[in-house]
Amino acid sequence: MFEKTSEEKVLRDPIHGYIHVNLQVVWDIINSSWFQRLRRIRQLGGAYIVYHCAEHSRFGHSLGVYELVRRMVCEVPDIEKALTEKEKVTVMLAGLLHDIGHGPYSHAFEGVTKSSHETFTCRIIEENTEITRILENCCTGLSKDVADVISHECMNPLLSQLISSQLDADRFDYLLRDAYFTGTKYGEYDLERILRTMRVYDGKQLVIKESGVYAVENYIMARYHMYWQVYYHPVARSYEAILHMLFKRMKDLGLKDVDEHVIPLFYPIIAGKKISLSDYFSLDESTCEYGFAMLTKHPDPIISDLAIRIRDRKLFTYQDSLSKENKKIRNQLKENGFDLRYYWARDEVAQSPYVPYSAQGDNNIWVLMKDGRKLEMSNASNIVYSLIHGPEKDDNKVFFPEVIE
Ligand code: CA
Repeated sequence: MFEKTSEEKVLRDPIHGYIHVNLQVVWDIINSSWFQRLRRIRQLGGAYIVYHCAEHSRFGHSLGVYELVRRMVCEVPDIEKALTEKEKVTVMLAGLLHDIGHGPYSHAFEGVTKSSHETFTCRIIEENTEITRILENCCTGLSKDVADVISHECMNPLLSQLISSQLDADRFDYLLRDAYFTGTKYGEYDLERILRTMRVYDGKQLVIKESGVYAVENYIMARYHMYWQVYYHPVARSYEAILHMLFKRMKDLGLKDVDEHVIPLFYPIIAGKKISLSDYFSLDESTCEYGFAMLTKHPDPIISDLAIRIRDRKLFTYQDSLSKENKKIRNQLKENGFDLRYYWARDEVAQSPYVPYSAQGDNNIWVLMKDGRKLEMSNASNIVYSLIHGPEKDDNKVFFPEVIE
């Protein structure tokens, strides 16, 4: 039913060895301009400023998620049996496209544009773009089916679980990939063991066999460590805070399109307008870097200073947001002429490596016990039990420029 490529295509990948493609529709999506755009967006936002090799892109991650979904639907016997041919193709495409709506600088930019990458993902798949046309040419209604898997609205819950749950292809790929490219070892875990112990319960629930519990414990710990060592690294957050302040300053000044130092693509963001898909297409990290380079010459001293800080990695330092020192530091900054609206940034993050029974619905990891019972992970693992009953770890910081005395 689905057209095959004339021969199997393989793409070399440091995490999975090879990415295998033998469906024409998958190959056409990979070669579309929207998918190629992901090469120009880094996977980890500002983390490359800390981990100098973390320059890997959303392009590689998206291919990796596709490959893991492909392996799950072809190589995990229970999943292979539970899904129709069409469902398999749909979920592979959903894996490939799940991050297509990501903008530059990852989540930092979502705060600037005030819209989530999920919203853009669904728009790009369904609003008559090149992606929509490739999917619809392959099979009428396919674009909606793919978008429904990504937004958890499809009829078969198993499909969405493969892409985003607690044990999903997205996390499986990004942990290994980000650990590899940052050079941190914490993110590694035994993927092969997890895949081997995956089963489908009742035709619609992904579960792990009891013998896979240790591999899953290790995976949960890997997430925990990667969050605190990489994703929430304070230096990366400092970079993202400056980015945020730069746009805040442009918004506050209400810059209009007569300013020769501002690239046109920034105007919809500054004006807080809904961004068109064609503008969004052009808004990648290469164009933003060009835009920031232009801003280093801006007559407004705050804009040019913040832009130079981004370009030359002259980052803000940081301190616990509850520190007694903060009042003194704020006064010092003011005395040195810093406008605290743009030179005092608060950022609070919190993360739990695994939250069962969350508000978003069934987000549990289920374990299939030898006696046939289905247990939620924290009831099958003492380590996970202690982890979820302990306090949530958070990190609240303020970021500000160093005052040289
Ligand atoms: Ca992802």
